[in-house]
Amino acid sequence: MADGALPGAEALAEVLADVRRYLGWHRDVAGEELHASSDGTLGAIVATMAVEVTVEGSSTPPVVVEYREVSPEGTSGPAPVDPVPPTKPRARAEVAARPAAAHAPSAPPPQAPVRPAAPDAVLAPGSEEPPRLDEVRRALGDCKRCKLCSGRKNLVFGVGNPKARIVFVGEGPGAEEDNQGIPFVGAAGQLLTKMIAAMGYGRDEVYICNVVKCRPPGNRNPEPDEIAACQPFLEAQLNAIRPSVIIALGKFAAQTLLRTDTPITRLRGQWREYVGIPLMPTFHPAYLLRNPPEKKSAWTDLQAVMARFPKAAG
Ligand code: URA
Repeated sequence: MADGALPGAEALAEVLADVRRYLGWHRDVAGEELHASSDGTLGAIVATMAVEVTVEGSSTPPVVVEYREVSPEGTSGPAPVDPVPPTKPRARAEVAARPAAAHAPSAPPPQAPVRPAAPDAVLAPGSEEPPRLDEVRRALGDCKRCKLCSGRKNLVFGVGNPKARIVFVGEGPGAEEDNQGIPFVGAAGQLLTKMIAAMGYGRDEVYICNVVKCRPPGNRNPEPDEIAACQPFLEAQLNAIRPSVIIALGKFAAQTLLRTDTPITRLRGQWREYVGIPLMPTFHPAYLLRNPPEKKSAWTDLQAVMARFPKAAG
């Protein structure tokens, strides 16, 4: 948000960027909720509201942000509204559409770390002395514990605040994440960023990581042995951060952390616990890109998290 030290125009640009991010997700959610009728036709504009955004102390004139309200299903109105912009489907196979993978319920112990910079205790979930995130990263080293190492460009460890209250856990890196070494920076990542913004957070305030740290070739699903090899490090990351709440994005995150084969369609929206930490399973953003009407359900799940863990509560 606006910083007093910034010149007015830059501050205004920041405000507008925040507003745009916030409205982006709400437009997507409301787009499904308000605009789409059951026969696929669209509602009509019934009201246009204008919000004036000004920056205190700035000589820049106020900027008007227009917000259009659309009639509920069946109500006629003066003009059709633009549909929600089409979302780019990901090449990755949708996790929830596939039969549940037979995850090993308890992971075999990982092979000896390549660089044993951190003690084994670093990897123990719920240990008295939490490891530091950088120790976990060092213990992971130039990992060759599973076959995914041979195809990766970059190991994608995680990004964000090491003291985050909210951790988002995804499935595994895609092509863009593999290129950059940062989780959730491709199409699904952009949607996740909007979801995080709609919750009132920046990406740097939360922590984002994946079940597997290396890209499965062709974006296939991670296999049980790959999940098992990475699981101790995911658990060590969570143990290092000790967040107030975990949001498991999609089948692989939810099933791995909860050690269950229950489908994500049944897990989502139900509070669970991971070693005493409240965990909310929800749909993976890639799934939401392919099934936009499900954004409503995902938003309900995120709202449940916000209601139980309001940002201001600290
Ligand atoms: N999908 C994931 O599960 N994780 C990423 O980092 C990107 C896409």
